[in-house]
Amino acid sequence: MSSIEKLNLLKAEIPASVSIVAVSKTKPISAIETLYHAGQLDFGENKVQEMVGKFETLPKEIRWHLIGHLQRNKVKYIANFVHLIHSVDNVSLLQEIDKQAKKSDRKISCLLQVKVAKEDTKYGMNFEELADILNDSNLKFPNVKLVGLMCMATFTEDVNQIRQEFKTLKRHFDSLKKQYPDFKFLSMGMSSDYKIAIEEGSTMIRVGSSIFGERN
Ligand SMILES: *Cc1c(COP(=O)(O)O)cnc(C)c1O
Repeated sequence: MSSIEKLNLLKAEIPASVSIVAVSKTKPISAIETLYHAGQLDFGENKVQEMVGKFETLPKEIRWHLIGHLQRNKVKYIANFVHLIHSVDNVSLLQEIDKQAKKSDRKISCLLQVKVAKEDTKYGMNFEELADILNDSNLKFPNVKLVGLMCMATFTEDVNQIRQEFKTLKRHFDSLKKQYPDFKFLSMGMSSDYKIAIEEGSTMIRVGSSIFGERN
């Protein structure tokens, strides 16, 4: 089955209100072009250098989502074009994004990545750090627009655990939404767990291998 067919099947299976970020990391330009010509505009990358290279080559209409861990010193390379940064997990990164966005005369949309997984390997802040960032009135980021939350569930076969982790994030998202009307996006779910994520309230899924096939 082609990537276009897989994407169309995925779309048919999920509510129209859930957006799909096609995760194109490690995939060639031609693979992205194919989906772009079929109408897909949102693509996700986890490495800055790879995203910059693809941005430069591909149509400017494409919306680039940075979904992987982002180092402060690399923000400057993407600040002029990135559509949404999903993986903001500390204040100093937020400060750097604000600074670079200002230089590019932009306001950059960001999600705060929360660690709900039990594994040590997953990036993200805990709920206390999240509250600190949102509540500290001394912290001002005029060139950043915080638009929601993102998480990665534990890599496990235990679907109950995955469901509980998504539920936890959704509960916090709903309560924050009352205070922050800009909170519109809840980025959760990948190829292995997007069905559970959508059942638990995801508004944006990040799907790679189920569209493009396995990565090497
Ligand atoms: C690679 C990646 C995905 C997509 O993973 P698949 O299993 O290929 O769907 C989603 N989110 C993040 C943060 C990733 O790094």
